[in-house]
Amino acid sequence: MNIMAEQPHKTPLLGMNPEQLRNVATSLGLPAFQGGQIAQWIYQKRATSFDQMNNLSKFARQKLHENYTIGVEEPIKASESIDGTIKYLFDAGNGFAVEAVYIPDDERATLCISSQKGCRMGCTFCMTGRQGFHGNLSVAQIINQIFSIPYSQSLTNIVFMGMGEPMDNLSEVSKAIEVLTAKWGLAWSPKRITVSSIGKLAELNTLIKTSSVHIAISVHSPYHNERLQFMPVEKAYNIETIMQNLRNYDFAHQRRLSVEYIMWDGFNDDNVHADALAELIKGTSARVNLIRFHSIPGFPYHSSSDNRMIAFRDRLNSKGIICTIRKSRGEDIMAACGMLAGANKKHSY
Ligand code: SF4
Repeated sequence: MNIMAEQPHKTPLLGMNPEQLRNVATSLGLPAFQGGQIAQWIYQKRATSFDQMNNLSKFARQKLHENYTIGVEEPIKASESIDGTIKYLFDAGNGFAVEAVYIPDDERATLCISSQKGCRMGCTFCMTGRQGFHGNLSVAQIINQIFSIPYSQSLTNIVFMGMGEPMDNLSEVSKAIEVLTAKWGLAWSPKRITVSSIGKLAELNTLIKTSSVHIAISVHSPYHNERLQFMPVEKAYNIETIMQNLRNYDFAHQRRLSVEYIMWDGFNDDNVHADALAELIKGTSARVNLIRFHSIPGFPYHSSSDNRMIAFRDRLNSKGIICTIRKSRGEDIMAACGMLAGANKKHSY
C-alpha cells in the first residue's frame, strides 16, 4: 500500500440546500431528516466539524467524515489596512487564490467577495482582468469567504464586487444568494446584498427576475466608443442596450439599481460626460457611485481630482440624480476597487 497516496477529494457540504443534504444523508444510509439537522448545524450553528453535530449518531458523524467535509476553510493570509479594511486571501485550488475584502464603516460591516478565479472580461483598468480567467468558484468557495473570516457573524452587507464577473458564474452565485437569504440559511434580507455586473444581459435578466438583490452596473463612460476602449465586453453588451433593458424592471422601491463610475482625469470627468451619463440613466431610477481610480501599471489614465469629482457629483445631484463619491478603502494593501488580483500562485506568499 502506498502510504503517500493523496487523500481522495471530499465534497464540501457548504452551499448545499436541505434537499441536497437529505440526499447526502440517504446516500450514506442515514434517515433523510438528518439532512435538515445537518443544514441547521452548518448554517445556523456554524459548525466547523462533524464532531460538533451532537444530535447525530456516532455512525452518522463517522460516515459524514469519511465522505465529506463541511467546507469551511480559513483564509491563508490576512492583510490589514491602516483604515481598518482587511483583505483575506483564500486558496482556490490548482495553485490559484482569490480575495475578499472586509470593510468596517460606522454601523456597517461589508464583505466584498469574489466569484471567479481571475476574470475573462478583460477590463484594462482592472488587475483581476489582466490576470485572465482561471475558473469559476463553487458555491462552497463563495460561501466560505463569508463563513470563515473572524468577523463573519457581524457582517451587515455582502457585495459581489471582488474578483470575477458574477454573471459569468450565475449558477454558483445564485446558489450563494440562496444560502444567504433562505430561511434554512442565514435568512438575510436580499437588500443586504449587492451584485455588480458589467451587464452580461441574459444572466443579468435571470438574476433580476429570480432574486431581489440590489444590482450595480459598471458603466465608467456613457459613450460606446469610450467604454469600448477599456471594456472589451462593450462590443457584445453595449451600455445603451444594457440601460434600455434595465428600464423593463422596477427599481423604484426598496430594490436599488446603481451605476458604478470610475473617474479618470481629463477623460470622463467633465460636464459633457455628466450630462451624457444623466441622459443614459434617465428613466431607470439608478443612483450613481463615483469611484476614485487606483492607478495600476500600464493604464494611461489617473484618477480625477477631488474637486472634479465633487463638481461631477453636484452636476448629477442638480439633475435630481442621487450621486455619491465612494470612500476609497484599503488602497495601502491593494484591496481597493480594481486592485484585487489574488496570488496567481498561492505559494508565492
Ligand atoms: Fe472582471 Fe470586473 Fe475586473 Fe472587469 S472590472 S475585468 S468584469 S473583475
